[in-house]
Amino acid sequence: MALSSKAAADEAAVKGAPGGADFIAASSGAGTVGPGSLPAGGHAEEVRMRILVVEDEPKMRALLRRALAEEGYAVDVAADGPQALTLAAAVSFDVVLLDVLLPGLDGFGVCARLRRSGVWVPVLMLTARDAVADRVRGLDGGADDYLTKPFSLEELLARLRALIRRGPVPRPAVLQAGDLRLDPATRAVYRGAAEITVTGKEYALLEALLRHPGVVLTREMLTEHCWDLGTSPYSNVVDAHIKSLRGKIDRPFGAQAIETVRGAGYRLRRDGGRPATARPPELQPAQTRPPRA
Ligand code: CA
Repeated sequence: MALSSKAAADEAAVKGAPGGADFIAASSGAGTVGPGSLPAGGHAEEVRMRILVVEDEPKMRALLRRALAEEGYAVDVAADGPQALTLAAAVSFDVVLLDVLLPGLDGFGVCARLRRSGVWVPVLMLTARDAVADRVRGLDGGADDYLTKPFSLEELLARLRALIRRGPVPRPAVLQAGDLRLDPATRAVYRGAAEITVTGKEYALLEALLRHPGVVLTREMLTEHCWDLGTSPYSNVVDAHIKSLRGKIDRPFGAQAIETVRGAGYRLRRDGGRPATARPPELQPAQTRPPRA
């Protein structure tokens, strides 16, 4: 069964499924989060897995609620980002099914705030078809898995089961390569246990590199990411900041995270420039850095 929102609407209309009309009517509008949708208070006799469905389209939301309830899940629904946060703060869910496109606060924002507040409930994100950037952003932002619309109910159920089996995994959306870490939530940079103070531009450069470990980023790409329009990628501004960044995250630690790729740009080593087997810093040959372009 395909569950695009249109398909959901069609199915609800065509099937007139048992209870379908009621539930669509009952769940339309913003009144879906209320006393009735909150847990009854711990007197359930069977342990049911509890799912929060965050979806702004009433018909899709209703279809998901019905399908999941039929599978035996306890289902709560939220129609926008703020409602989702309110519910997730009040109730311990086993998994959250989170649509990306939501009014108020989108799915990325909801997921990021949950993680920042230490809520590690598994999150399955629903993204638009073919939106690779959305999927990457969702996973970077702390989602555990994603499914693109339209999707099959079978696949949705399988992924939910997998996430529930695994349970919550504290996994801050920190960018990391080896022992080099950057926490977008706090804008802190670490090499091992040492916190490193970087400037705004150095932070932006490092974030861009850490989001694409092992990939060559050209000066044009870095300029576009880190500087205002109008800054020429042919000026030495990128090189100057890379040099100062190396002086903070690499040289003091005998590491070499940022590689110069001659004639192309810069690349961050996946191992953070300091492999686990690295020799102590004082024994690192000084000439291991490739020549500057
Ligand atoms: Ca939506």
